[in-house]
Amino acid sequence: MSRENLKKATRIFSYVKPYKWKFVIGILLITLSALFTLVVTRLWGQLGGIGTQQPTGPDLREYFNFELDFSSLSDIAIATFVLLVVQAALSFIRVLLFANVTENMMLSLRQDTYQQIVRMPMQYFNEQRVGDLNSRISADITSIQDIFTTTLAELLRQLIIIVGGVLALLWFSPTLTFIMLGTLPIVIIIAVIFGRFIRKLSKRTQDKVAESNVIVQETLTGIVNVKSFANEALEVMRYMASIREIKDFAIKGAKWRGAFASFIILFIFGAITLVILKGADLAEDESLAGEHFFSFLLITGLVAGSIGGLANLFGTLQKGIGAIENVMDILDQETEEVALSTQRENLQPNLIGNIDFKNVVFHYASREEVGVLNDLSFSIKSGEQVAIVGPSGAGKSTIASMVLRFYKPVSGSILFEGKEAKEYSLTELRNQMAFVPQEVILFGGTIQENIAYGNPDASDAEIKAAADQANATEFISQFPDGMDTVVGERGIQLSGGQRQRIAIARAVLKNPTILILDEATSSLDSESERLVQDALDKLMAGRTSLVIAHRLSTVRNATQILVLEKGKLAESGTHDDLMNIENGLYKNLIQLQGTRETFQK
Ligand code: ATP
Repeated sequence: MSRENLKKATRIFSYVKPYKWKFVIGILLITLSALFTLVVTRLWGQLGGIGTQQPTGPDLREYFNFELDFSSLSDIAIATFVLLVVQAALSFIRVLLFANVTENMMLSLRQDTYQQIVRMPMQYFNEQRVGDLNSRISADITSIQDIFTTTLAELLRQLIIIVGGVLALLWFSPTLTFIMLGTLPIVIIIAVIFGRFIRKLSKRTQDKVAESNVIVQETLTGIVNVKSFANEALEVMRYMASIREIKDFAIKGAKWRGAFASFIILFIFGAITLVILKGADLAEDESLAGEHFFSFLLITGLVAGSIGGLANLFGTLQKGIGAIENVMDILDQETEEVALSTQRENLQPNLIGNIDFKNVVFHYASREEVGVLNDLSFSIKSGEQVAIVGPSGAGKSTIASMVLRFYKPVSGSILFEGKEAKEYSLTELRNQMAFVPQEVILFGGTIQENIAYGNPDASDAEIKAAADQANATEFISQFPDGMDTVVGERGIQLSGGQRQRIAIARAVLKNPTILILDEATSSLDSESERLVQDALDKLMAGRTSLVIAHRLSTVRNATQILVLEKGKLAESGTHDDLMNIENGLYKNLIQLQGTRETFQK
């Protein structure tokens, strides 16, 4: 645990700040409750002592001003029960206070983390695995929660018991205490070294658990692949390998934890035995009163228990500090500047749809050596239908992502209405665009909810109209639940063509100025294709549209075709222009596709 880690971890206290008084009162209550534990233990000692001989200890009346006779069994019993009742009440209030503080904190922390994650730039999601991000929000935040609901409070309690306990012990018998303390530092040093080592092991186990979760997630997400390739056995083996590692690491960890526990037991209990022997010796000499000896033993037990508990608490604390660091790392990342307000109407920049790429150079941050767009320039006028064609990997989807401002050019600029893209806020720009991807992934709710994603403020009538325009009404009305049909996770209960039409309806509802379309390559049957194409044509009418084209029909009707090759604009113009270029790339592509389509027919 370095200083820097600790410093980072203390930043979590900014989340406690709004509830600091409740937290402070909670801390005071736990302090009181720990002191009461000591006093009660002392009273037990006195009770036990009465059973053996008359007490010689301090008359507690001096301190508490109670009319109690501490040589009377019943009086001490009453005092003990009163203290226990008070302590019980304090503990109840303390637990509620800490829960209140923690739950409020967790609310803000979860909100901030999630807000931060969804606002991260696309590049971040290229580099992270969904499973890892998931565990940031669930596992890490739960560890932090543990710290604030129990660990800190317990730690304080144990420390008070240890310090208070040792002081009391010294008061009863310095000789005995020194014998006891003679062994403690050794145990503590071993505990610290051990604790560090165990932390490393448990971190490795945690990482392995996360890895295995990623495998489950990947397998289940790609279950179609798994099944179609009959790779169930392979996946099971992959998972088995991973969970075996968890087991090995966990057992290795357990061996060390076991050794740790044995050490503590041996030393603490060994020390207690020594103390009892020595104490019995002193009691025999009558240099130690019987009830003091009794109290001494009970408090020693209490202190020993607390020291034993400390190691575990340190473990949880360290885990929590790691979790805080992880979460802080996320909160420290630079996000996209997207608005978090859902009020769309305030954010209209009123684009009309002129887009210019000027000498755009781009490579993905994760693969700097591979240039993707190379000095790319083109202009799209408002209302134009532009098709981008080119061989696979030429950079077509990348252009679409750049228009959506998922990535920024490495050099060169992208202009909207002649103004640099960076002069608009991201939310403003994206509010004016709609993207219909190649592989439509719907959310798990109903069709209605999925269409409404295009504009959450839309009325039912508007949603219905959008579905109409997207040629979706017919198939929707065939479902018994109509618009309320649940689409299944990621839309799995709908066909490809149906999903596409829902995505189109979503775009219709958004009513964007700029439409970006990644045409589906998967061939639909001709009737579905006609319905989808017709819906797209209606959607594109009167808007600037940028289509990553795979179908001849779209390309032919485009007002401008950009032919891309290795991130460069090889040719551009209308279909007729391009067909006139002898040996041109476009002409070749078209001929190739034409032959293939004839062949398929
Ligand atoms: P296709 O027609 O096959 O979809 P495309 O023309 O749309 O291809 P892009 O998806 O834009 O091509 O990819 C262009 C290049 O960028 C490819 O070499 C690809 O490997 C690379 N690339 C795409 N996405 C990423 C990413 N997220 N990180 C790193 N490299 C990427």
